[in-house]
Amino acid sequence: MISAVMPTYARADIVFERGEGAYLFDSAGRRYLDFSSGVAVTAFGHAHPRLVEALTGQARKVWHTSNLFRVAGQERVAARLIGASFADTVFFCNSGAEAWECGVKVIRRHFHDSDQPERYRIITCGGGFHGRTLAAISAANQEKLVKGFGPLLDGFDQVPFGDLDALRAAVTSKTAAICIEPIQGEGGIHVAPAGYLRAVRAIADEHGLLLFYDEIQTGIGRTGTLFAHQREGAMPDVMCLAKGLGGGFPVGACLATERAAAAMTAGSHGSTFGGNPLAMAVADAVLDLVLAPGFLDGVAALGERFGALLESLVARHPSVFADARGVGLMRGLKCRPPNTMVIDALRREGLLAVGASDNVVRLLPPLIIADAQVQEALAVLDRVAAVLAGGEAAS
Ligand SMILES: *Cc1c(COP(=O)(O)O)cnc(C)c1O
Repeated sequence: MISAVMPTYARADIVFERGEGAYLFDSAGRRYLDFSSGVAVTAFGHAHPRLVEALTGQARKVWHTSNLFRVAGQERVAARLIGASFADTVFFCNSGAEAWECGVKVIRRHFHDSDQPERYRIITCGGGFHGRTLAAISAANQEKLVKGFGPLLDGFDQVPFGDLDALRAAVTSKTAAICIEPIQGEGGIHVAPAGYLRAVRAIADEHGLLLFYDEIQTGIGRTGTLFAHQREGAMPDVMCLAKGLGGGFPVGACLATERAAAAMTAGSHGSTFGGNPLAMAVADAVLDLVLAPGFLDGVAALGERFGALLESLVARHPSVFADARGVGLMRGLKCRPPNTMVIDALRREGLLAVGASDNVVRLLPPLIIADAQVQEALAVLDRVAAVLAGGEAAS
């Protein structure tokens, strides 16, 4: 018999009852160090007092009014995102896939209203991930995402991530935009080669294309800068955010320049729930925290130390880990045994991590993590790697 909850996930058999900072506690009272952060979402850990206060304070006033009216929180959060980015305007929605799809609509409408409706195609990267809507799976076009869901949406051309020659060769008179994750998350923590984003920007400019970044996972401080592309200084025309923006409250956002979004007039797009007062109150508080002076420098510095510790871990356990990769607090370990085996072993030892393609274990601690907790995670990783290495030797 099918389960009451549609069985679309391979879930671990744990129910968490509460969380505090970087820790979660299950229904048996067992404590876990959370280096999954609900897949890069709970950037400020669990039950952060400032976020709890923002949400409950707003809940006592008004939850939802729809977008038939002005929402003060949207105006405030949009202004702050604009002040901290390339963007001139922001659309709010509820999830990553919706934010990404808004970007696709901005791009198509831009060329439609520029009298170039034939330019609707978007170049995407192999191994990319943009969510689970039909448009998003059509763009990523991986077997495991699309199987049985055809016909797919037309309009996406794929090139290998990091390959500039393939990208140049894929541009045609129908190309509208290039869509890139500055660091592929679900794909296995693939970091764009140095200079890649700047070169992609140059290709976009040369051909009059819009550049569209998916920073749903990399954004909001995850890599030590507010947005991952800021490390290279190659600005997009359109960018989508979600995950960390709400610190665990569902919210997504599509940011764009005035030029890119000029055709998004009243009635062109919408969302019943998007940017409701609860989501905006939490996002505003998240921005208070992430933009606090010195905060991101601390994330970057800790991220460097974490990265160095992971390098040494790999060196100690070469039969278990093939390499360490990532930037800031978005890290991955490529495994030799199946990554699911490593993740299960870590969880039994009280450390939560996330899988990714390419047999990678993702380590995505909250941005508020302390050095001592990084050491605690490393101790678990060392212990589990030693056991797994022993198992390899024994088998
Ligand atoms: C998680 C993710 C998405 C999809 O977000 P949902 O909220 O699950 O729809 C899209 N793009 C990237 C890069 C992501 O990491």
